[in-house]
Amino acid sequence: MEFVQFHPTVLHTREGQGFLISEATRGEGATLRTPGGTRFMPAYDPRAELAPRDVVTRGIYDAMRREGTNHVLLDLTHHPAAYLKLRFPTICTRCLAEGIDPATDPIPVAPAAHYLMGGIRTDINGATSLAGLYAAGECACTGVHGANRLASNSLLECLVFGRRCADAALEQWTGDGKGKAAWQATGVEYAACLYPSLPPLPVPHLTYHTPPVAPPGWRSSLAAIMSTGAGPLRSADRLLEALRRLEAFPMQGFAPDPETITAANAALVARLIVAHSLAREESRGAHRRVDFPQTDEAWQVHLVSRRGTRPYPVATVTEMDHPQPATDYPYPVDHQLPVWGDWCLLPVPQLRNGPLAEAYPVP
Ligand SMILES: Cc1cc2nc3c(=O)[nH]c(=O)nc-3n(C[C@H](O)[C@H](O)[C@H](O)COP(=O)(O)OP(=O)(O)OC[C@H]3O[C@@H](n4cnc5c(N)ncnc54)[C@H](O)[C@@H]3O)c2cc1C
Repeated sequence: MEFVQFHPTVLHTREGQGFLISEATRGEGATLRTPGGTRFMPAYDPRAELAPRDVVTRGIYDAMRREGTNHVLLDLTHHPAAYLKLRFPTICTRCLAEGIDPATDPIPVAPAAHYLMGGIRTDINGATSLAGLYAAGECACTGVHGANRLASNSLLECLVFGRRCADAALEQWTGDGKGKAAWQATGVEYAACLYPSLPPLPVPHLTYHTPPVAPPGWRSSLAAIMSTGAGPLRSADRLLEALRRLEAFPMQGFAPDPETITAANAALVARLIVAHSLAREESRGAHRRVDFPQTDEAWQVHLVSRRGTRPYPVATVTEMDHPQPATDYPYPVDHQLPVWGDWCLLPVPQLRNGPLAEAYPVP
C-alpha cells in the first residue's frame, strides 16, 4: 500500500480539480520552472524534464518545498499557439477555460496521487483471500507493477485481469466448468449479456449499527493529511503525524449512509498507506523516505496486512499463502504491542529502536 504513483504535472487550480497536463508536453520540450522562473530539473537528474515520472515528481515536490509554494510552472511558451492547439487541443481548451494561455503563460502544475500499485491481494485470476470475492483494476494488487508502474498499465489491470476475473468467477459460480465453455462458445464478451438467468447472489440481511458519522468536509481533510504526510517525499515524523491525525476519522462504516461508508473506507485505505509507508524503512520505486534514502535488499518483499493477523512479508504477492500467526512470525515481534481492534501493523522485517519500533495499528 505504500507504493503510490504521483503524476508530476496536474493543473493547479483554485478548485483543485485534477486535470492532467500530459507528460507528452515535456517530450515536446516543455521546461519546469519555479514561480520565479528558474529551471530546476537539471539539478535533480541529467535527463532533466525527460527523467521518469517519479523522478520528475520528486524534483517538483522538492522545488515546491524549497520555494515555499504549492505549485511550479510548466513552460510551453516556446511553441506558437497554432502548434500547441494542434498538438494538445484538450490541454489548451482546459487551460484557456482557466484563463491560462499556454502559448503565452507558463501553466501552474503540481504533483498529485495518480495510481496505487498496492491494493487487495489477488492471485493471477483476481481471486482474493475471501472465497467468491474477486478484485480487478486499481483496487487489486496483482503484482504486475512491482514498486512502480509504467504509464498506461491500467489497460493490463482492467482488461486482462478483468477478463480473468470474469472467467474465474463464472467457473466458480457454475462449479462444473460449463459456464466458461458456454461463454466462450458464443464469442460474446460480457458475462452479464450471457447469463441473465443466473441465480441472484444471496445478499445477507444487513444490520446497521449506530453510524460513526463522516466528519463534514472529510474529503478535503483527508486529502490534506495525505498530501502533507504521505506525499512523494516521506519521513517518519510526517507519517506519524498523519497517523495521529487520521485517528479523528471513523474507520467503521456500518451505516445506511453511503457517505459514511465511503469516508470510513477512504480513511482505512489512507491509514494502510501511511502505516505501510512508515514500516518500509527504505526507498524503492514510488516510495521515497527522506530518512531512509537507500534501497535496502532486506526489504525486497511485499507487505501484507490482513484482518486478525499481523502483517507479514511475502516474496510474491500472488502466492496466496496463509497468514502466519504471531508465534510463527519470522521476524522479532513484541507480543505486548497494542492492537487497535483486531488489526495490528508492525514495521517489518527490521524492527528498530525508537518510534518506528512501535506498532502502527490498523483497524
Ligand atoms: C486523472 C487520471 C488520469 C489517468 N490516466 C491514465 C492513463 O492515461 N493511462 C492509464 O493506464 N491509467 C491512467 N490512470 C489510471 C487509471 O485511470 C485507473 O487506474 C483506472 O481507471 C482504474 O480502473 P478501475 O476500473 O479499477 O477503477 P475506476 O475507474 O476508479 O472505476 C471504479 C468504479 O467503481 C465505482 N464505484 C465506486 N464505489 C462504488 C460502490 N460502492 N458501488 C458501486 N460502484 C462504485 C466508481 O464510481 C467507478 O465508476 C489515470 C488516473 C487518473 C486519476
